[in-house]
Amino acid sequence: MGMFDTVILPEPIPCATCGEAIESFQTKHFEKLLQQLQVGDVVTEKFISGVLENHLFCDACYEAKRDERETQKVYLVIYHRILVGVYTDIEVAHQKFKAFDKLDLLDFYQNLYDRMQQWRRKYRNFHHIISKYKEYLAMSEAERQKDRASPFAKLHLSGIEDCLAKDIVEALACLLEKGEKGEGTFFL
Ligand SMILES: [Zn+2]
Repeated sequence: MGMFDTVILPEPIPCATCGEAIESFQTKHFEKLLQQLQVGDVVTEKFISGVLENHLFCDACYEAKRDERETQKVYLVIYHRILVGVYTDIEVAHQKFKAFDKLDLLDFYQNLYDRMQQWRRKYRNFHHIISKYKEYLAMSEAERQKDRASPFAKLHLSGIEDCLAKDIVEALACLLEKGEKGEGTFFL
């Protein structure tokens, strides 16, 4: 099996066979860059506008459905490279494509802007706490002791010590979480 992109469904779709909620599906319609796409994202230039058919796969009953798995389909609506919706009914998909207008576009733009701002904030906080971590690594044990004794210790460098006992993946996740809460960023 080659590479594919994953589309996150705006709403889970129940599997027609077992009822399990399907939350995403794989597609080879685009450039197969292992991207994760959701409604509002811009797809590759290979496909500009129209409705694309895709099969849904259910992890819960994949084997059982092997012979009939092509029965459940979804339709991706692409408008000038923007993934504007995913529908189970082809007629609805075509209607949505025809009806897409400037206000819908404005909605997408605003949602995308909000998402961009969230990522900017996440990145800024993460950057701050990683800088603090670097400072912490450069400190002597005596300096760390002093920091721990500070009334602001919980907000300062020692606040990240509990992240450091974890493996690298968990440590990064922990630092990211502290960054999100604004911990360790008060003395910049
Ligand atoms: Zn199923």
